[in-house]
Amino acid sequence: MITVDDFNFENKKALIRVDFNVPLDEDFNVTDSNRIEAAKPTIIKILEDGGSAVLMSHLGRPKGERNPALSLSHISEKVSEVIGVQVKFIDDCIGEKAEKAVAELESGEVLLLENLRFYAEEEKGDKLFAEQLSHLGDIYVNDAFGTAHRAHASTTIVAGFFPDKKCFGYLLAKEIKAIEKVMKTGEKPVTAILGGAKVSSKITIIENILSKINHLIIGGGMTYTFIKAQGGKVGNSICEDDKMDLALSILKKAKDMGVQVHLPVDVVAADDFSNSANTKIVAVDDIPEGWQGLDAGPKTLENFREVILASKTILWNGPVGVFEMESFAEGTISVGNFIDEATKNGAFSLVGGGDSVAAVKQFGFEDKVSYVSTGGGAMLESLEGKSLPGIAAILEA
Ligand code: AMP
Repeated sequence: MITVDDFNFENKKALIRVDFNVPLDEDFNVTDSNRIEAAKPTIIKILEDGGSAVLMSHLGRPKGERNPALSLSHISEKVSEVIGVQVKFIDDCIGEKAEKAVAELESGEVLLLENLRFYAEEEKGDKLFAEQLSHLGDIYVNDAFGTAHRAHASTTIVAGFFPDKKCFGYLLAKEIKAIEKVMKTGEKPVTAILGGAKVSSKITIIENILSKINHLIIGGGMTYTFIKAQGGKVGNSICEDDKMDLALSILKKAKDMGVQVHLPVDVVAADDFSNSANTKIVAVDDIPEGWQGLDAGPKTLENFREVILASKTILWNGPVGVFEMESFAEGTISVGNFIDEATKNGAFSLVGGGDSVAAVKQFGFEDKVSYVSTGGGAMLESLEGKSLPGIAAILEA
């Protein structure tokens, strides 16, 4: 894999696609600078080589129009603070002004361009726009995993203008390696824990990973489609009736492939979808009418613990309960604790995709798992086995 380590950036201008799509408060202060921190090592390596960095990113969804509220000027100070270099900002990302600012950039300096999505051409993957971007650097570096699944001008098309002069930044390289460690080179037993609300949103992932794993733990709202399909009573639990056949075919496929599937055996059932609902522990296949399963039960968690602790490679996507409500967060917290324990015992653990990252952050598991993916959609598409255009564009000759 070709990374920034394969280049010496002395006197070179690196055009770096970063993901600085950070949250801002109403006074335009950055409220979470994780994504800026994540890009720091790549930028520092380039500056230490004696190069300069031209940073390009999107922020929010301006839909091709200049929107002052979504200007990257708001984050310029925060980027300076995190990188430790006073960053220059230019209020365009292509054209004369931007080219002049790049020409004036000296070694050790950092230039932040204006929001790429102020131009509709960015999301359209417009070639001419990408070519204009390509004038802004000698070497193209992609360090934005969060947008690697999009064939946008700055994430994919621009790479075509840098034959032999393009590479991955450290963050993107780390993401790719972490996914490979689970999907290709993972030490066995490999366990995938899939939760979340619906089977329908996870089906492609399940189908793709079955050939790569030994154990599949199913939790969360997905559970009830599987249980009802097998003849269980799920009461008012979330259930996709039209996906029951699919659920049965997954179970059969898993069996044929020698993958052990672990479904909940008991659940915390509630008489309302509310934090203050009445609750009771019931068998997963005997949930009374008017009640719904909202978290994993104690026996289930014991079973999950055993499987997780015996695993050497763990992938976690999706909470095993409605973790946003305190009354139904225990299952998800416990799964996090089991993964923490397994990781301490030497397992490699990867958490990624949508809400599982939110859960991991909320409960402080970020430093306890081996790797937390920074890209929701990109991670999900990787797990689905799709080739990500932003990654392919760097690998192509
Ligand atoms: P996903 O984005 O597919 O990973 O789904 C995450 C969502 O699933 C979270 O907002 C959870 O609250 C929700 N969820 C987890 N378990 C259940 C459940 N038993 N019933 C309803 N929703 C659930």
